[in-house]
Amino acid sequence: MTKPRVHILALGGTIATRPDSTGAMQMGLGADDLVAAVPLLETLAEIEAETVSRVGSHSLSFDQIHALAARIRGLEADGVIVTQGTDTLEETSFLLDLLLDVDVPVIVTAAMRNPSLTSPDGAGNLLAAVRVASDPWVRRSARTLGVLAVMLDEVYAAADVLKVHPTRVNAFAATQTGPLAALVEDRVVPLSLPVRDAVVAARRTIAGASGKAAPVALFWMSLDDDAALMSMLLAASDRAGYRGAVIAAMGGGHVSERSVENIHRLARAMPTVIAPRAGAGGPMLRHTYGGPSAEIELRRAGLIWGGRLHPLKARVLLETCLRAGLDRPAITDLFDAFG
Ligand code: ASP
Repeated sequence: MTKPRVHILALGGTIATRPDSTGAMQMGLGADDLVAAVPLLETLAEIEAETVSRVGSHSLSFDQIHALAARIRGLEADGVIVTQGTDTLEETSFLLDLLLDVDVPVIVTAAMRNPSLTSPDGAGNLLAAVRVASDPWVRRSARTLGVLAVMLDEVYAAADVLKVHPTRVNAFAATQTGPLAALVEDRVVPLSLPVRDAVVAARRTIAGASGKAAPVALFWMSLDDDAALMSMLLAASDRAGYRGAVIAAMGGGHVSERSVENIHRLARAMPTVIAPRAGAGGPMLRHTYGGPSAEIELRRAGLIWGGRLHPLKARVLLETCLRAGLDRPAITDLFDAFG
């Protein structure tokens, strides 16, 4: 049987670090180094390795991920692996899922433990990612699965995966839905298929979103917050460059009464999405609580309801919508599909 052609694109991150003269870990390794460290890869696939950048994922930009999506579209491969840092993997993988309409598995992986530590996880995660990309069920289901994240022998949907711990090796989970598959011995064991109708509808509407960057501010509502920061943003020249905002609201979609006036002003000035700060994402309430700072009035005042999306995912989607030039009703419809 011919082996699948798997193209590895390395961006940087802990998986690609090595110590400098002071012992501090720096982004030093390229795609070839990552591949050389895992000789077993060759038994699974014809590997092509390409170093795209050597940056920490905490410093990646939307533009870089758009360029990466364009590169992936241009590849002739049976599967694509992106290696990067873990810090923004939950955002970049979702952005790729919104941008890519391809028939082959696209998998993002990373490492929590750098290569100088005991039992680093980079090599194992890369091997697992290539195993998943080469797996017949995954290849057959590539469109249904969308972009995947593979970490610590579990496979997650990009819309659901979250980084749930800052340092532990088991830092990734999809707490709303669970993993789509697990790796056991040399097998990929399917567990479930993701419900991606809203992602697919968004991707169709966005259609590659090749416009200019559209910065989106993220506000995290908390006890006794009067949202003075929103007022400062609105007073700044050109609103400090922001074109949209996401508010991580409390509970089922609530904010403090003291913040309501500023939130209304913000929502009048730019598309503003409410997403839940609690837990792993929504869905949120739509018509339970009354009063100016709860869902019924906020929705009436023009706040866009983020559905089941975590605030970080909602911010990625809103940036992508604005970049694509969508107007407010189109953006509202698109978020609405997320519940
Ligand atoms: N700061 C690193 C990054 O995201 C952390 C990691 O890779 O785990 O690039």
